[in-house]
Amino acid sequence: MSEIQATTTMDKIVSLSKRRGFIFQSSEIYGGLNSCWDYGPLGVELKNNVKQAWRRKVIQERDDMVGLDASILMHPRVWEASGHVAGFTDPLVDCKVCKQRFRADHLEGDKCPACGGELTEARQFNLMFKTFMGPVEDNAAVVYLRPETAQGIFVNFNNVQTTTRMKLPFGIAQVGKSFRNEITPGNFTFRTREFEQMEIEYFVKPGTDEQYHKEWIDRRFQWYLDLGITKERLRLREHAADELAHYAKGCFDIEYYFPMGWSELEGIANRTDFDLKRHAEYSGQRIDYFDQEANEHYVPYVIEPSAGADRGTLAFLLDAYHEEPDKDEVRVVLKLHRALAPYKVAILPLSKKEPLVAVAKEIEQELRKYWMVDYDDSKAIGRRYRRQDEIGTPYCVTIDFQSLEDKAVTVRDRDTMEQERIPMAELSKYLWEKLAW
Ligand code: ATP
Repeated sequence: MSEIQATTTMDKIVSLSKRRGFIFQSSEIYGGLNSCWDYGPLGVELKNNVKQAWRRKVIQERDDMVGLDASILMHPRVWEASGHVAGFTDPLVDCKVCKQRFRADHLEGDKCPACGGELTEARQFNLMFKTFMGPVEDNAAVVYLRPETAQGIFVNFNNVQTTTRMKLPFGIAQVGKSFRNEITPGNFTFRTREFEQMEIEYFVKPGTDEQYHKEWIDRRFQWYLDLGITKERLRLREHAADELAHYAKGCFDIEYYFPMGWSELEGIANRTDFDLKRHAEYSGQRIDYFDQEANEHYVPYVIEPSAGADRGTLAFLLDAYHEEPDKDEVRVVLKLHRALAPYKVAILPLSKKEPLVAVAKEIEQELRKYWMVDYDDSKAIGRRYRRQDEIGTPYCVTIDFQSLEDKAVTVRDRDTMEQERIPMAELSKYLWEKLAW
């Protein structure tokens, strides 16, 4: 057994998510749809902040990276070239007694884990969702919902390289939905059939690939630490040779210690020149790079850090969850990194009376220009602090009758619970400095 402790149970996070509006079950009024989830008002802010923090690190702060947003539906030949039609399968077994289905590679024995019944032989099940393009449901019109965003990047390699005139090494990053008809989805948003990926394809000169692979592994690992994930709950795991995808020369997973144990957050693979070469072959187009210095054409190798936006969001939520004793009660606080917190500031006027409200509203409007702000004027101030702690708001601003006299407000820090009196005229600047990252 590992000595590492998960911060909390999945049940507590599921319940907090529903109670406070982070994540709801999809189509709940119809009884829900298995493994599909909707991000509520707080969840959409949190997940957008995760994606934004990723984009900032891998695109904005780098001069060798650009973005892309390719379509979900692609030409069916793409998936023949990529190997997904032939090989994107998981081994599926059925229980002959209770009829449940399992992924054979996730089973510990040869009997049904639910009822002990006998299992069928494993058969390969393709995970791609099929749909029809246009009004006629015939074979010619079959298209797939992409099972990874990566192929949108590979097929645009020439477009991006010629329009940006980027020189190797350079990368293309994209965030978007992917779909996999998973045999056994579960563990809340950890494994779903519709999910969002944050993927990078970093193109390099063959021979330099191992060096860049190592650099990206370190850089991506550090990203989670910088955004507050506890070091002890993060680890790197190298894929064994028999685990490697058909295109990969090497792969490392960044794993998080989820309540169900160590599980993948992100995979960082060396995909070699497999994809570009296959697309050149299947499309009949020339896809390569002209290296001016070496005066030669070659097909770049590619390093692929592939992260899940939903899995990342879940890990940040779990890791931020804390229960602390508070007199006779328990203070639940989400110690989310300030970059990720859904609301950055809450405005809490101590009375619903004028002229206090007018001042509070004015401050609210000013701060809303820069951040997501919550305004709460109901119930005792202690209860309101608790509500903000529970959703991870880093700063609460209280406005009291004294504020009308001294033109100052009280700012409370979520983590230290310390309070500071700040002149209203300096509040935005004060918060800018506190919230910078
Ligand atoms: P697993 O072994 O867990 O099925 P994988 O190795 O097939 O995952 P990749 O193909 O490497 O996953 O996908 C890259 C990332 O996309 C994963 O690290 C994960 O964060 C995310 N991801 C993949 N499948 C799912 C899913 N079904 N639900 C949520 N996120 C997913």
